[in-house]
Amino acid sequence: MAATDRLRAALAAQPRVSLAHLPTPIEPLPRLSAALGGPRILVKRDDCTGLGLGGNKTRKLEFLMAEAQQQGADTVITTGGIQSNHVRQTAAAAAKLGLACELVLTRVVPWGGDDYERSGNIQLDRLFGATVHLHDGGTDRNTAMAALATALKADGKRPFTIPTGGSNVTGALGYAAAALEIFEQLHTLGVKPKAILHACSSGGTQGGLSAGLAAIDPALRVVGVDVDANPESVEGTVRQLAEEVWALLNLDGALPPDCITLESGYAGEAYGLPTTAMREAVNLCAELEGLLLDPVYSGKAMAGLIGMIRANRFTKDDTVVFLHTGGTPALFPYRDALES
Ligand SMILES: *Cc1c(COP(=O)(O)O)cnc(C)c1O
Repeated sequence: MAATDRLRAALAAQPRVSLAHLPTPIEPLPRLSAALGGPRILVKRDDCTGLGLGGNKTRKLEFLMAEAQQQGADTVITTGGIQSNHVRQTAAAAAKLGLACELVLTRVVPWGGDDYERSGNIQLDRLFGATVHLHDGGTDRNTAMAALATALKADGKRPFTIPTGGSNVTGALGYAAAALEIFEQLHTLGVKPKAILHACSSGGTQGGLSAGLAAIDPALRVVGVDVDANPESVEGTVRQLAEEVWALLNLDGALPPDCITLESGYAGEAYGLPTTAMREAVNLCAELEGLLLDPVYSGKAMAGLIGMIRANRFTKDDTVVFLHTGGTPALFPYRDALES
């Protein structure tokens, strides 16, 4: 069986609920390419997955929410920062599927103010009817979620817990499926890109995508741009998740060890803190392409792509794909950081 058919069949055997607008478009960014004097840049619009303002977590939630339903859950628990996109998409998915949603939000980013505390993602969490539990930055998220699950069970509820970023093997399946979608779109376009780049943090996106593409198109390199300021630890998580996806889908042979690549140096001081290169990337994409990035993830990932282009890592004849993972609701809470 061809590798694509095999991956498709393995994914079809996994429980999945439809939540995202798929396939998301792939579009050229000609004015950005010209301004940078760089390669042809295509953007894969996973900011347009549709659910509750979209983003990469919706693909993961198609598999995670199916597992919750299979287990007979009536409540979903998840966790993240105050401006977590994952949390917002989970709250939207829970609303759509008629599940209650309980959120453990931790103050991990040393950034504050009224906009940060109340607008953007957290505003939408509340709009989707989720219950927000705010904790300080030092809180262990898994411990806090376990305590919440115990309390909910004592109350007669059936909670299902989703980890930070939806990044376990189930969630990562969403990006193994995306690998197939991207492969087919590029095939139709007749394009063979040098690399596909995206923001990497909790690892499920890169883990799933790397495993999926390694199975069907090993020449297409995935490059995760570290936004956690912690590339070694992130790389370990990505590799672990890719191995788990490979095993769960029973793919041929072993995961190629060289299929995980992290690019570091663009996170700045810490996760969630603005950088000058991020501001430049956000401004360039907005002014040249009418394309909105975000300050925490896609802005730093695009700063990485711009940095790599300026370091002559690609030629003018190359094509690169920027996987836009979403996050645009955070433009509003970070208003102060983006105003010049
Ligand atoms: C969560 C997120 C990422 C990172 O994806 P991981 O699977 O956590 O590595 C990138 N961009 C945005 C906008 C996100 O919300």
